[in-house]
Amino acid sequence: LSLAEKASLVGAFDYIVLKTLYSLRGKSEFVSFNSLRKKLDVKNDEELKISLLKLNELKLISKDPTEFSFRLTFSGLDILGIKMLYLNRILYKLAEIIGEGKESIVYHGYDFDNNRIVTKFHRVGTDSYKKIKFRKDLEKKDWLSITVENAKREFDALECIRREGGYVPKPLGVQYNAVAMEHINGKELYKKADTVNLKEILEKILETMRIAYNICNITHGDLSPYNILIDESGTPFLIDWPQATDSEEILKRDLINIATFFKKHGIEVDVHKMFDYVRGV
Ligand code: ADP
Ligand code: MN
Repeated sequence: LSLAEKASLVGAFDYIVLKTLYSLRGKSEFVSFNSLRKKLDVKNDEELKISLLKLNELKLISKDPTEFSFRLTFSGLDILGIKMLYLNRILYKLAEIIGEGKESIVYHGYDFDNNRIVTKFHRVGTDSYKKIKFRKDLEKKDWLSITVENAKREFDALECIRREGGYVPKPLGVQYNAVAMEHINGKELYKKADTVNLKEILEKILETMRIAYNICNITHGDLSPYNILIDESGTPFLIDWPQATDSEEILKRDLINIATFFKKHGIEVDVHKMFDYVRGV
């Protein structure tokens, strides 16, 4: 079943069960039937058991192998995001998958006016968990919380940069691990390098990084020609901001990545000048 089909099978009570599992999440991950039952204040256990069985079959939750305890899966978290984006009239329906990375699944979809939009569902993989481990503030958190925080961080980055005139997709909403944003009709920069005005594109990338760094206090952290989309008019859009941090070291690394790509395609670049420009020196 697709995510959209699963979402349509989740009834009002099932949804409340998912929401409660999320709210009871903690370090131990699995939530016992008893604490779920208490929190939900259910009159008869059968209704809850039937719902849990159904959610388990849909793989929206998983059961502890030895105990009668449950936890949300990433798909279960996706469903909460979809439902809330729908209730907030941001996402009318999901369509096909655009891309599936280690850290996210990106879907086409439609808003309530039938415009094409994109919804990105965050996933925290082993890789990012390793990176996150170095961040003291996140050390004690569970994976669901980290995933939801990544989505929020990406949304906040898009919102600030866009508001200040940078070239990023317009963010539309964030709920749980789901970020809805404008759909950019285009291709990644690495596929388009031979057919576009690279000088103009580089200027717009640097302008965006300058706004991000100086006004929004963030740097991308994973900037590369894979995370830059070029639309039909040749305008770049910087995407994929969940790793955004405030660090000069990382800014330098991002700039070196970008400079290397443009140099390879015959554009003269001076990393030191780029660095000074972005920092506003
Ligand atoms: P990740 O690389 O972490 O999986 P991205 O944010 O880079 O996540 O998105 C994955 C892919 O989805 C992108 O390479 C791009 O092809 C597509 N994509 C992401 N956001 C948009 C968007 N706003 N419009 C069009 N395509 C997008
Ligand atoms: Mn990416």
